[in-house]
Amino acid sequence: MATATVAGAVKPKREWIYAKKPGGKWFNRRQWVGYTLLAFLIVAPFIKIGGEPLLLFNIIERKFVIFGSVFWPQDLHIFVFGMLIAMVCIVLFTVVYGRVWCGWACPQTIFMELVFRRIEFLIEGDWLQQKKLDKAPNTTAKYAKKILKHTIFLLISFVISNLFLSYIIGIEELWKIMTDPISQHIGGFVAIVLFTLVFYGVFAYVREIVCTTICPYGRLQSVLMDDKSVTIAYDHRRGEPRGHRKKDVEQLVGDCVDCNLCVQVCPTGIDIRNGLQMECVSCTACIDACDTVMEKLDRPKNLIGFYSVSEIEGQPKAKGNTRAIAYTVVLAALVAVFGWLMFSRSQVDGTLLRARGSTYQVLDDGTVSNLYSLELINKTSNDIPFNLEVLDEDMAIRMVNQLTVLKAGATAQMTFFLITPQQSVKTYKTDVKIGVMADGKAVETLKTTFVAPVK
Ligand code: SF4
Ligand code: SF4
Repeated sequence: MATATVAGAVKPKREWIYAKKPGGKWFNRRQWVGYTLLAFLIVAPFIKIGGEPLLLFNIIERKFVIFGSVFWPQDLHIFVFGMLIAMVCIVLFTVVYGRVWCGWACPQTIFMELVFRRIEFLIEGDWLQQKKLDKAPNTTAKYAKKILKHTIFLLISFVISNLFLSYIIGIEELWKIMTDPISQHIGGFVAIVLFTLVFYGVFAYVREIVCTTICPYGRLQSVLMDDKSVTIAYDHRRGEPRGHRKKDVEQLVGDCVDCNLCVQVCPTGIDIRNGLQMECVSCTACIDACDTVMEKLDRPKNLIGFYSVSEIEGQPKAKGNTRAIAYTVVLAALVAVFGWLMFSRSQVDGTLLRARGSTYQVLDDGTVSNLYSLELINKTSNDIPFNLEVLDEDMAIRMVNQLTVLKAGATAQMTFFLITPQQSVKTYKTDVKIGVMADGKAVETLKTTFVAPVK
């Protein structure tokens, strides 16, 4: 179907997809997984580990928390590794199981199929009733249904928007935005409104276009999958030639009775019988639909099921997949490096610099001093009492601004002198190690140099 634009170019008109209500073994399983993940998504911002949230992705303050571990800009390399591992996991799953992420774990699918579409079914009925309602003349009853549906959609989008923000700014900040006067949090308020509108637009109108056109992951499918990747497919060798069966007539037909149920339930509007398609989000709705038909016809199930291309073509079931093994090895190596980086991570990080433009000062009492500036960051969620010590040289520290406690998750700036008798100076430049001591142990060691004239 096409409509002409003002400029004369032909622009395809979007065909609205009325998906039939899914149901069956696979849908029940998907509901379990989806609602569990949804519950986790809702509860996670409220969970604290050692005073820190379970997950936080504060891109504004560049603070990230994963399972209660805080990652500051200094830990970016660890965070990047964490993200890389997550990506490799998704790639590995795609190589082995196709778009399993899309159908089972992607928030877009979970919200669309298990929340928004369920509400639509409740208010407007199954697909045929929805179609009829949209074509029906505008009546009070039609308006009432549409207003009710869109009001609930907006309210849920508002909740999702708040949920989304709680992962960025944390639940406490979000609570402040919600309870303080709007004038104190104009930015936060605008963000909530904008995100609400975006989510509402996505789930009420854009829908499957996110998966079929906008999301780049779907497009990556063809690169990642091979003949041995398991995905949802139609067994054409068994199903074809498709056609209606005539009673008491011997026919050469396949198992597909061309009932079109698999197309009607598809949320992206495709016909799985046309082969592997980028638009398929592996939602399993067509498997359930076809299994119901096969059951009624007393034929084996799984005319549509989890198959690899090579299986469908009649080759024996693959035992291994070289690419999957290679990805697993890469994944194991990345997890090992990630673990090592996590465990070897210091609680305190620091930057020690000689005060700009200064060299040394010879004092009247026969000592020499150098001036330094130090910035420390406490990466934990606890205050750390500390002091500075020169570790391997006989030098004294005189603080210009004395600090004794590093506040949780905060940075501290200090200035201090290193002082030593000029008589003990053996070389113009001496390497010095400064320890940041907490509980008698060096939680961070910083290197610098001390310059002084040799007498
Ligand atoms: S649901 Fe099964 S039988 Fe019906 S059209 Fe689809 S593949 Fe054929
Ligand atoms: S083809 Fe089947 S599995 Fe793929 S999106 Fe459509 S209904 Fe879901």
